[in-house]
Amino acid sequence: MQYGFVIDQDACIGCHACTVACKAENDVPVGGFRTSVKYVEVGKFPQVKRSFLVQRCNHCTNPPCVAICPVNALTKRADGIVDVDRDACIGCRACMQACPYDALYLNEDLGAVEKCHFCAHRIEKGLQPACVTVCPVGAIIPGDFDDPESRVSLIRKAKMLSARRPEQGTGPNVRYIGASEVALKPGSAEKPPQFIWSQRRDAPAEPWPVPTEPDAREVLNSEPKIEWGWPVALYLVTKGIAGGAAMIAPFLGLFGAAGKMPWWAPESIGLVFMLVTVFLLIEDLAKPMHFYKLFTRPNWNSWLVKGGIVLTIFGGLSALILALGLFKPEGQVGLVEPLRWLNALVGALVSGYTAFLFKQCKGRDLWEADGLLWHLLAQSVTAAAALFCLVGMGNPVTVGALIAGAASLGVLHFVPVRDRDRTENFLQAQGFFLQTKIGTVRIAKDSTWIIPLLALATLGLLILAPPFPAICAIPGAVVIYYLFLYERAFVRAGQLPPLS
Ligand code: SF4
Repeated sequence: MQYGFVIDQDACIGCHACTVACKAENDVPVGGFRTSVKYVEVGKFPQVKRSFLVQRCNHCTNPPCVAICPVNALTKRADGIVDVDRDACIGCRACMQACPYDALYLNEDLGAVEKCHFCAHRIEKGLQPACVTVCPVGAIIPGDFDDPESRVSLIRKAKMLSARRPEQGTGPNVRYIGASEVALKPGSAEKPPQFIWSQRRDAPAEPWPVPTEPDAREVLNSEPKIEWGWPVALYLVTKGIAGGAAMIAPFLGLFGAAGKMPWWAPESIGLVFMLVTVFLLIEDLAKPMHFYKLFTRPNWNSWLVKGGIVLTIFGGLSALILALGLFKPEGQVGLVEPLRWLNALVGALVSGYTAFLFKQCKGRDLWEADGLLWHLLAQSVTAAAALFCLVGMGNPVTVGALIAGAASLGVLHFVPVRDRDRTENFLQAQGFFLQTKIGTVRIAKDSTWIIPLLALATLGLLILAPPFPAICAIPGAVVIYYLFLYERAFVRAGQLPPLS
């Protein structure tokens, strides 16, 4: 069984009765929408046509929101409805990044996400969803797409139906009759500074980076907030430092640099930054005190859960290495060095698992592009090496790691994106990302002069670091700050293109 809707945009008159009925029925807070009506105008006065698009959860056949939810708060019921358990939700908002349709909002009073649930409480009593009951023109038709005799299936057989963003592969179960192409494609119409009846929320200050359809304007729509802000960017850097410290640690002994810093430095730095990472993760939850549900009701498909396990193993192994080093009998080699190789592998997982988490964010095509894993590993080595330099532990190994990491990041910046990844959402986000300025430098591919400059600076460091470790402190701080701004730009740009 698969419940869904056919929405007849030829019949729809854009009256918002469905939005209001849904709000009243489900206590939807101001600023949140379980269903909304988008208005797009095409043409020039007096030849202008306005079209509407009723938007809501698609009760997807393969719902990415369910796959990413770390605590199984989102589930697909036997009747195909995708429902949220608000008590179970911890407010991580990962589902809002995974949904390619902006179907969820955060109810800040409850600290939980909500969305259209097909008025399941009414369906179970044999009633229609509230939006269906109230629509004055009968434009919203509910039914079971798996039943060949249902009205929705018969309409699907008889007419060409469209859907929002079918390329995302989620199997949307809201289908449209007569929806205009420009209304279906988010970001294809120009957005004026103000909507017809409301102010726009969080309109980006930057110019729109890609061409839009000529004479097409989006004059009314819901505009969700950017949900993942600077804590997520900082988490990428702190997690990178923790994992990178573990990846560099075995090479210190291998290349004879272990004596140039306290033996306990790599694991101590790894542990401290792992704890900061965990703090940032928990602090960013809408219900921080419910973080324990990651372990009591885990969804093993979610990379948030897998990441939590990786961080726990990393913490345990780093603590074990410190304990073994502390109680090692004088003059014995002990297990510290062999365990460092194992911890380097776990450190790589700490750094890299976010690439798989971001791949689960099906609404953010920029984050899904291939190469993110390599970028995170290179960023991690760079950040950890920069931290070693910052705290006066610049030596040939840490400076060498800084150079290797930064050079890899430079090379990765120029790797071309594969054609199949270049979706409209990707191009919009990439446009925002490349036009972001960090200080006076634009993150564009034309900033090639930075590469020789960095090469020169790192060469100087390599020569000067062994006699004067403190000399690396300033470049170390600059590199970490730059990485934070770079990650913040990346996290933000991925969320700027509209999904509705
Ligand atoms: Fe609904 Fe979005 Fe989840 Fe699909 S991914 S079921 S549209 S919330």
